[in-house]
Amino acid sequence: EACAKVIDGKYIAKQIRDEISAEVSRMKEVIGVVPGLAVILVGDRKDSATYVRNKKKACESVGINSFEVHLPTDSKEEDVLKFISGFNDDPSVHGILVQLPLPSHMNEQSILNAVTIEKDVDGFHPLNIGRLAMRGREPLFVPCTPKGCIELLHRYGVGIKGKRAVVIGRSNIVGMPAALLLQREDATISIVHSRTQNPEEITREADIIIAAVGQANMVRGTWIKPGAVIIDVGINPVEDPKSSRGYKLVGDVCYEEACKVASAITPVPGGVGPMTIAMLLSNTLTSAKRAHNFQ
Ligand code: NDP
Repeated sequence: EACAKVIDGKYIAKQIRDEISAEVSRMKEVIGVVPGLAVILVGDRKDSATYVRNKKKACESVGINSFEVHLPTDSKEEDVLKFISGFNDDPSVHGILVQLPLPSHMNEQSILNAVTIEKDVDGFHPLNIGRLAMRGREPLFVPCTPKGCIELLHRYGVGIKGKRAVVIGRSNIVGMPAALLLQREDATISIVHSRTQNPEEITREADIIIAAVGQANMVRGTWIKPGAVIIDVGINPVEDPKSSRGYKLVGDVCYEEACKVASAITPVPGGVGPMTIAMLLSNTLTSAKRAHNFQ
């Protein structure tokens, strides 16, 4: 029985972290500069705290400095803006990341807009997204998760040019920038979202599918053209009595079915997830190099 090649995000992410680590050492040796990432966390969401902890650990593992600010849920928007402005002006900080979601009384837009585009390592500033969408313009940074998806395609030698690509989901942080990136690489893209009728008719045309929906196992084997390449961004907890935690994580794609039809597929976990953090480190290194004109 045919079985898809597994796109090993964990392995690729480790390779990338090793490359970054070597570059960080070289930079320190040659010009005495250590890249720095500032992370701002507001409130006490457990998942956000975990993400921030993982980002901090990842920085340590490659020799990037990390600076963390943890503000209480009832902080004022001005408090967050004050820290952002301080990091904008701080030459030892090359990347600024505001962990989302913010508490509901804060205006996400004005906070993301306050991060200087030179340090916008999440790539969420509207100027960076706007440039991503324009021909002949270059964003300073590309959002990490979609960048990680494309990097996986590159490192597995999957051709993108001239291919039909379908992105499922159109969020600002994953789906939309993923579609823009594929388009920049000369794929012909379709975007499927919650109002799309008969999504399976569209996905069946795709040579490449990027699924970023947040619906466990939504993409079935019958939705996939034989030989397609599947990048599954979804991270969905589903009940699992066999696990000590009582749940397990699955993607947006039904892996058991898809791996019989696709030519290559990312697992969940161990696919896109580890790439996101690797791309954050990569963006931070790029920013530091750019700030110090170091090649
Ligand atoms: P959002 O909830 O912001 O966006 C989901 C998108 O999916 C929306 O565009 C929505 O459409 C669309 N959608 C929802 N239901 C359906 C449906 N039934 N059919 C077709 N489209 C649908 O999620 P995110 O983009 O932030 O995240 C998507 C998934 O990726 C989540 O599981 C998240 O946990 C995971 N994720 C993983 C990361 C990683 O590092 N691996 C990083 C970030 C996210 P509409 O616009 O019409 O509402």
